Amino acid sequence: MARDTSPVCKQCRREGLKLFLKGDRCLTDKCSFDRRPYAPGQHGQKRTKFSEYARHLREKQKARRIYGILEKQFALYFEAADAAKGITGNNLFNLLERRLDNVVFRMGFANTRKGSRQLVSHSHILVNGKKVNRPSYLIKAGDEIAIREKSKKVSSIVASLEAKGRQGWDSWLEVDAKKMAGVIKEIPAFTDLQLPVEPQLIVEFYSR
Ligand code: SF4
Repeated sequence: MARDTSPVCKQCRREGLKLFLKGDRCLTDKCSFDRRPYAPGQHGQKRTKFSEYARHLREKQKARRIYGILEKQFALYFEAADAAKGITGNNLFNLLERRLDNVVFRMGFANTRKGSRQLVSHSHILVNGKKVNRPSYLIKAGDEIAIREKSKKVSSIVASLEAKGRQGWDSWLEVDAKKMAGVIKEIPAFTDLQLPVEPQLIVEFYSR
């Protein structure tokens, strides 16, 4: 499975905001963005005026990095979103939110999307009682996501779920922490997600 191996904290610094890609570390004083809130590289501290193209590109990169999706796959999601009925930008985030690795992360079984992808690909996750090890598997409303019996004592899953329980779950999820299982009640609208992204700029990027 291809994956993005570029340094994670540099991605936040490049996008000029905290993308929270490292779980708990992002909330500590070890956060690289808090210590160096400017772009990486020799010219990172120079004030840069963004062209229209650069604004569109950065918005696309930001969304891609939040969900940890590679370039080609992200473009395929856009194509599918564009071909579907409705508003393309909303369709795009609808698809991204339905990815199994994203749902596992939102339910709190892992504290980062990278960690949730690993849980899925290492076969710790059941969807409607069946093992699914494809992170890009698309979940539908009503599907039940659970930790398989054998994995319920994995310490990282237990710790992550406890932390999520303290924070609370998103309104479109119903999670039973004791059972280590949850249901996605409905696919959230983009406005529910509170992401620091403007979908219209991504649409404009791909419409050039
Ligand atoms: Fe981004 Fe800070 Fe988290 Fe690193 S620690 S991923 S810079 S928010």
